[in-house]
Amino acid sequence: MSDLREIYQEVILDHYRKPRNFQALDAATSEARGHNPLCGDRISVYLVVRGGRVENISFQGAGCAISTASASLMTEAVKGKTLDEAKALFHHFHDMMTGPEDDGEVGDLGKLEALSGVRRIPIRVKCATLAWHTFKSALEDDARNAEPVTTE
Ligand code: ZN
Repeated sequence: MSDLREIYQEVILDHYRKPRNFQALDAATSEARGHNPLCGDRISVYLVVRGGRVENISFQGAGCAISTASASLMTEAVKGKTLDEAKALFHHFHDMMTGPEDDGEVGDLGKLEALSGVRRIPIRVKCATLAWHTFKSALEDDARNAEPVTTE
C-alpha cells in the first residue's frame, strides 16, 4: 500500500511540475473560470466541443500542487471523450473525492486515482475538485450556447 502511495505522490508531483495542456486555447468554444478561496487556487478551463465530443481541453492558472496536478490529470482524462462520458467521469471522480474513506472501491479512474488520498484531507478536496467544477461550468456554458451558428 505504501508503494501505491509513493506512485500516487509521483504522479501528482509530475503533473504539478509539468502540467499537461497548460495553455489558453484561442479556438475555445467555451471557457470558465474557477476560484478556491480556501486555498487561493485560480483556474481557467478552455474547451473545444465539436460533434458532442471534447475535442480539446486546456487550462491555465495558479494554484497549489494538488489543484494544478488535478487540472492537468483532468485534461488528459477528458480529452476525446463524449460529453456524456466526460460528465460520467466528473461524477465518478467527485464520488471518489467525497465518498467515505473506507469505501475502498474507487472504480477504474486510471491516473485520476492518484488523487484518491486527498479525500483524507477535507480542506484539500476543494483543491482537487476545483478543475472539475470549472470544467462542468464550461460544459454548461457550452450547452446554453449550443444553438448552431449558421451562415445561411
Ligand atoms: Zn489548493
